[in-house]
Amino acid sequence: MSRTINILPENLANRIAAGEVVQRPESVVKELVENSLDAGARSVIVAVRDAGKTYIQVSDDGIGMSAEDAVTAFERHATSKIATYDDLEAIRTLGFRGEALASIAAVAQVELKTRRRGEAAGTRVRIAGGARDVVEPVGMEPGTAVGVKNLFFNTPARRNFLKSDGTEFKRILDTLQHAAIAWPGTSFTFASSDEIVFDVAAADTEEQRIRDLFGERYFESLVPVREESDLLAIHGYISKPEFARKARTEQIFLLNRRFITSRALGHAVFSGYEHLVEKASFPFFVLFIEIDPHRVDVNVHPSKLEVKFEDESGVYRMIHNAVRRALGTHDLIPVLTSVERNGTFSPEPIPPQAVPGHPQTEMRLAFLRTAPAKGGRGPSTSPAPGGGTELHVVSSGERALVPPAGAPGGGEEPRIYQLHNKYILSQIRSGIMLIDQHAAHERILYERAVTFLERNAPASQQLLFPQTVELSPGDFALASELLDDLMRLGFDIQVFGKNTLLVNGIPADVRIGHEAGILRDLLDEYKDDKRNMTLKPRERLAKSFACRAAVKAGDPLSSDEMRSLIDQLFATSIPYSCPHGRPVIVRIPLEEIDGYFGRT
Ligand code: ADP
Ligand code: MG
Repeated sequence: MSRTINILPENLANRIAAGEVVQRPESVVKELVENSLDAGARSVIVAVRDAGKTYIQVSDDGIGMSAEDAVTAFERHATSKIATYDDLEAIRTLGFRGEALASIAAVAQVELKTRRRGEAAGTRVRIAGGARDVVEPVGMEPGTAVGVKNLFFNTPARRNFLKSDGTEFKRILDTLQHAAIAWPGTSFTFASSDEIVFDVAAADTEEQRIRDLFGERYFESLVPVREESDLLAIHGYISKPEFARKARTEQIFLLNRRFITSRALGHAVFSGYEHLVEKASFPFFVLFIEIDPHRVDVNVHPSKLEVKFEDESGVYRMIHNAVRRALGTHDLIPVLTSVERNGTFSPEPIPPQAVPGHPQTEMRLAFLRTAPAKGGRGPSTSPAPGGGTELHVVSSGERALVPPAGAPGGGEEPRIYQLHNKYILSQIRSGIMLIDQHAAHERILYERAVTFLERNAPASQQLLFPQTVELSPGDFALASELLDDLMRLGFDIQVFGKNTLLVNGIPADVRIGHEAGILRDLLDEYKDDKRNMTLKPRERLAKSFACRAAVKAGDPLSSDEMRSLIDQLFATSIPYSCPHGRPVIVRIPLEEIDGYFGRT
């Protein structure tokens, strides 16, 4: 009989287990800070050297440990946080596995000093590579301080796996920021090589903490979110769509104040932005999710970063809806300022003879309700004739000095101009507003199409002369597949022989003269968009329809058409962005314009 199976000595077992808990300096920081927070710390101080590779220290003013506990704490499965299986079913603390201190001590040199409040002296424990060498009394303030030297000194493979100082440092910084956001009532100080990286005082609100950490400007790019149900409560902040970034940064979910990662929940947020952000750019957010700990399992992995929800699709829906609502109820029209413009917008000087009206003319847009109209102060001057200029003037003032009776605001018709047959320009109280006519119409048609597709009460305009449309076999098959939904959209079509459809009617929004084309265009767009699998088929159909049926850049619009476009735009749920995620409206503040002329 030979024996090939060994029971590993505890030291070695710990070192192996440590691999799951302690992967890098950041894991040490995370575990120690979690312990401080679980100990009720009001103040946490973290200091590192060489991105934590040579030294990490975390001190707190929490409850501290007795001398006996200070030693036991380094045993594997030593925890004060759970005792029974039932406790594991409802975790309310950040730690619960009882393995962090054991794991850290297995792969580094650790010194822990701790003093319970009310006890006369503290205890110092020194332990390296899992072997304890000192336990002695020490004088100190109540609380706990853990110093970790030479991480992975006895596991060179691990050490060699570490990334550059810059990368490892960034990870620590992120982790500390997550903790600081989650626990605004606790002050956090982070120092690296004796320099303060950040230092935030205890704050009364999460909002204050975010301002303290990221600054005022950052905060202005956020929209608040709040949603509650029997299942969970969500609150926090999401970025306005135009601030979305190329990198996935600051996507912070705090589940019962624990930072977690979740692809599914991340997707729930993105899908809430619908088409507000372009592909490949990512909104950032901080979302606090509070849920009954019985309904979530945080014991999925030793790193405690992943969780399993009892009802994941319920959580997904809540988050999606919360984001949708938050974005829909906030004024998200981007404001252009010279700082943000980055050359994306450069105003062309308008030839003086084309400037309509008198500069002091009071113009207000009734439909924007930006200002109560002042009775009787209509446009004071008629615009100069626009012959030969680029600026096409189309407003009531073009035809009449005196606005027509019954105009909104007791005689003030908003003035609207079409620029280059592409943009609609309007004055608003705070400056001027530019609207992309195609994008605006797309947004309108998209929302209408979505409603029609859901409602099954199509608005169709019958054609005087039904038209036949011949399609490729592929398109014909696609059209047959979509037939029901096309009818819902307002197409009145029937199969008319091989690969041919007879179009009797088209959606009410489509311009006459474009009947056959729109159907073919729509199918093309739909096929092209097939890669976009995040969309439900109907959303995709609505998007394709909107894109192809909308007025194009280059289409001249009458004043009435523009006005009705704007009215309808502001009646949509998300007027500031087209279904592709591009902006529809930008606002140029008056101060910005004043700046052009040195009037500051
Ligand atoms: P866990 O946090 O999962 O319980 P740890 O190994 O991280 O396991 O810590 C073991 C125990 O040591 C904790 O349960 C706690 O009782 C004690 N402890 C660790 N750090 C601190 C601290 N900073 N303040 C007070 N007690 C602590
Ligand atoms: Mg712990």
